Amino acid sequence: MSTKPALLMRLLASSFAIAEKAQMIIHQVLSGGNLNIVEKTGANDLQTKADRLVQQSICLSLARKFPNLTIIGEEDLPFQEIDEDLIESGQCEEVLKYSCPVQYSHFKEEEIVVWVDPLDGTKEFTEGFLDHVTVLIGIACGGKAIAGVINQPYYNYQAGADAVVGRTIWGGLNLGVFGIKVKEVPAGKHIVTTSRSHSNKLVNDCISAMNVDEVIRVGGAGNKVLQLIEGKASAYIFASPGCKKWDTCAPEAILHALSGKLTDIHGNSFQYHKDVKHVNSAGVLATLTNFDYYASRVPESVKKALIP
Ligand code: AMP
Ligand code: MG
Ligand code: MG
Repeated sequence: MSTKPALLMRLLASSFAIAEKAQMIIHQVLSGGNLNIVEKTGANDLQTKADRLVQQSICLSLARKFPNLTIIGEEDLPFQEIDEDLIESGQCEEVLKYSCPVQYSHFKEEEIVVWVDPLDGTKEFTEGFLDHVTVLIGIACGGKAIAGVINQPYYNYQAGADAVVGRTIWGGLNLGVFGIKVKEVPAGKHIVTTSRSHSNKLVNDCISAMNVDEVIRVGGAGNKVLQLIEGKASAYIFASPGCKKWDTCAPEAILHALSGKLTDIHGNSFQYHKDVKHVNSAGVLATLTNFDYYASRVPESVKKALIP
């Protein structure tokens, strides 16, 4: 008789399938031609029909299978009748081939918080920078980001007709990371990736103080962490409030599973329990390697301006 896989592995396997459904929904909305954009707090804080439908899809699909989870999604949506077409009930069998790390095998639904960013990089999505977009499902327990799924719905979209568009990356602490190949930045090169749409004087002052070889400005917290993993950037630096727990939970879990580090600008770890404040008010600093090089160069004036 086979035993049921541990909750964490079932949750990851379902989240993988749900993230692939999210990719399909995003493609459908974009090809439908009407993004139905709503401004949330202003012109740089947008929500599209894709953000709304994907959030419903992820949250309803997870809640149906795992009714006692706490699920926190970015979008504040009015209660709506469930559209059954949005529900994904499948799971990725490949994920279930992996054993749950023993220290996580006893987790109960009530102890887990899932942080959902249905579409990270919305501003860029509306401007046609499609490969900046990711779907983020972060799994936290005991206040710590432990596992996650990142779907990049337009990965490879400019790579030609034969290329497979979109990919899903998953992983967790003591488990590993799958669906992406780790590559390091060329030795001795310091390349910083930062916000394209939410930069300000503090963000730029912090980066200027670091004397780096190159600064890349792209959308999305998920996208920037993928750049670290693929050797396109050596540090993700955002010395400003604005990024939220749903932006960092899945990317942090995946980066930490690869022995990288994601913290606020002071080097403090983030907490992900259900009552934590959503905004990462002291910014974000993340690297795959060489964390101290960047952490030690954050100017005192920047630290003083960013209170955790
Ligand atoms: P960015 O690097 O600008 O794409 O930001 C990463 C994530 O943080 C995205 O989900 C943004 O929407 C969010 N974010 C960062 N700064 C702000 C801000 N000032 N207002 C609203 N959202 C922000
Ligand atoms: Mg986001
Ligand atoms: Mg979002």
